[in-house]
Amino acid sequence: MPALAVINCGQLVTLAGPARPRVREELKQLGIITDGGLHVRDGIVERAGTRADLESKLTAEYEIVDAGGRVVMPGFIDAHTHPVFAGNRVDEYELRASGATYEEVAAAGGGIRSTVRKTRDATEDDLFESAQRRAQWFLRTGTTTIEAKSGYGLSLESELKLLRVICRLNGAGPLQYVPTFLGAHEVPDEYRGKADDYLQVVISEMLPKVAEQKLAEYCDVFCEPKVFDTRASMRILNAAEASGLGLRIHADQLSLSGGAELAATVRATTADHLEHTDASGILALERAGVQPVLLPGSVYALGLKKFAPARAMIEAGLAIVLATDFNPGSSPIPSMPFVLSLASTQMRLTPAEAVTASTINAAYSLARGAQAGSLEPGKQADFVIHDCEDYREIAYFTGIEPASATYIRGERVYSRL
Ligand SMILES: [Zn+2]
Repeated sequence: MPALAVINCGQLVTLAGPARPRVREELKQLGIITDGGLHVRDGIVERAGTRADLESKLTAEYEIVDAGGRVVMPGFIDAHTHPVFAGNRVDEYELRASGATYEEVAAAGGGIRSTVRKTRDATEDDLFESAQRRAQWFLRTGTTTIEAKSGYGLSLESELKLLRVICRLNGAGPLQYVPTFLGAHEVPDEYRGKADDYLQVVISEMLPKVAEQKLAEYCDVFCEPKVFDTRASMRILNAAEASGLGLRIHADQLSLSGGAELAATVRATTADHLEHTDASGILALERAGVQPVLLPGSVYALGLKKFAPARAMIEAGLAIVLATDFNPGSSPIPSMPFVLSLASTQMRLTPAEAVTASTINAAYSLARGAQAGSLEPGKQADFVIHDCEDYREIAYFTGIEPASATYIRGERVYSRL
């Protein structure tokens, strides 16, 4: 692979800074180098600096990439997605447009369980191919790494199948995946009214196999009173920790149910959603060092109004993360630029805070902070040339795709030209 010199970056947004998730005022500090450049060797950032810094070190061995005065920044890291599933839920989308609520659709056998039925019937090859097509949607919107959850199998065999597909996707590249086991996403049809029995299957059958086969780095739970309450969620998370998995939680999405406090008690890496979390939940997260992963796309796509209290979280010193929650039901949204727009218009994050939350902070929430999320020497050269002159345009112009080229480990994996 030739060495690369990315020159003529109107704004090189490096996110250089302390080697930890950013909080409070740090969220606004993007380490922008005006008229900057980037040297890349063996897929790793060799140096980042001003034109004057880099020109003296430029030799004939570098292949030139001219950014044309545009914005160059790290690839987005999408720390919460459900990208492997069969079929779609466009019928339910239409029903909801006609007035049905998400809960009503789910109670009638739709929702997650309808995707589970289709996903169980699909082969590994089918699931791999449909996910590969969706991987292009991430690359073309400037995302280079995604966290990917299972959770549409809900049986031992189907959950292992989904996790194997995620591992295969990661091996096939170019999009990079971090696998999460979400066997406790919903109670499947055959265990309706026997949720405790299903809980036992997750804990004593699925988790040991997932850990033994090293198919996931994290375990997640859908913690809601009518699905897995805090007691059930705690049992699963304790077992997951004992199996060596990191912990994530879908918490306080549809109601205030103690999910944030639970995340703090089990010292989860992240608590995700948090639309209904109150001041005491925020305090608990702060004391336990849990990173909140905020998902405004699902609030938007469900036609709801209550977004997570992001400003209160920032004031409390939480290292917030933004992600898409891409899934076929509540968030058919793979685009981080769109999520940045929602963050600024609906949650009052400045564009800079939103960029930090979706790059370096997201990387730390996935134990990738040492490799990704910023453009600093020694890190992977995962970067995007955005077709704008000012990074704030990414959140500002909405409904377009600002990424004009996406690079992973110094290789161009998407280009609009
Ligand atoms: Zn989710």
